[in-house]
Formats: sequence, C-alpha cells, structure tokens
Amino acid sequence: TRGLLVGRMQPVHKGHIEVIKRILEDVDEVIIGIGSAQLSHTLRDPFTAGERVMMLTKALSENGISPSHYYIIPIQDVECNSIWIAHVKMLTPPFKHVYSGNSLVQRLFIEGGYEVTSPPPFNRESYSGTEVRRRMLADEDWESLVPKCVVKVIEEIDGVNRLKHLSKKEM
Ligand code: ATP
Ligand code: MG
Repeated sequence: TRGLLVGRMQPVHKGHIEVIKRILEDVDEVIIGIGSAQLSHTLRDPFTAGERVMMLTKALSENGISPSHYYIIPIQDVECNSIWIAHVKMLTPPFKHVYSGNSLVQRLFIEGGYEVTSPPPFNRESYSGTEVRRRMLADEDWESLVPKCVVKVIEEIDGVNRLKHLSKKEM
C-alpha cells in the first residue's frame, strides 16, 4: 500500500521526518509531494523545489530510510482547488491513503473519496516551517529544528542570508 504526504517543506524540518517515519509504520511506500513547487525566493517560500528535494533526500538517507520506500515528487499549484486532486494524481504513483494536517488538503481528498488521516503532532510549536523561518530572521537557534544535513544544505545555498535579504525594505 502507498500513502501520500504533501507539504511545502520550506524548509524540511524534524517534524516532517517524524511524520514520514510514522506513515511508514502504516504503508509500504510513502509518496512525498513537495507542494507549491513553483515558488521560491519569498519570505514564506524561500527555497526552490530542487533545493527542497535535496534537503529531503539527504534527511531521509541520514535517518536510514531506504529510497525503495519513498518517492519525492514536486507538485506545482493550480489555480482551481477543485481540480487539484486530478493534478496530484497525474504526477504521483497510485495511492489510497492521504496524511495531512492541513484542512484544505484534507477536505479536497475526502471529497475525492480518499482515506484521510491527520498525523499526530510532533513538537508542533517548534517543528514548524513558520517557526524555523522566524528563527532564521531573528538570529535564534533554528539549527536544532532541522536535520543536520538540512543545516548543511541551507549553508551551501546561503539560505539564511537569502531570507534576510528578502526581508529588507526597498531603499
Ligand atoms: P509552514 O509553517 O510553512 O506551513 P509546516 O511546518 O506546516 O510549515 P508543511 O510542509 O506545511 O510544514 O507541512 C506539511 C504537512 O506535514 C502538514 O500539513 C502536517 O500534516 C505535517 N507536519 C509538519 N510538521 C509536523 C509536525 N511537527 N508534527 C506533525 N505533523 C507535521
Ligand atoms: Mg503547513
């Protein structure tokens, strides 16, 4: 059996890895959809789909999760929520189970006849993309919220400076 998890993963954090491990207790293969794949270089979506694929691949490997157990698939947004499920289906291997804490994602898949599960929260106050990005801008400890190899990727692409630069007002 296969399960789907969709997230923007801006950036990949330890909560994503915990959820993926939890999903792999239920299903043989997890399809990880990288949402809003077309977005990058904004305060809410700083990293490209390619950068996020790199973060996720390395983090899964670091956690001993074999490539035979997952697919990583970038998924661009579509204008119409009502056709989003068909768009996701077009891009992914077949799946029956969907895991999401996001109410829009839940609603669309429920209406599409899928079995939808809300993953249990793992340290949700800190293991959150919003919190990681906030800490990056505030020069607080964000590194402890993401896997070690994700820290390395963000350093390689100068990610914190990218975010800080984007947050500056025009002069
Ligand atoms: P942002 O604050 O930018 O939305 P996020 O932490 O919600 O970031 P997403 O990529 O949006 O990260 O997460 C995708 C999905 O992964 C969420 O809808 C949720 O179902 C699940 N998830 C993410 N972090 C956790 C966590 N700490 N515990 C449980 N589920 C999580
Ligand atoms: Mg989210």
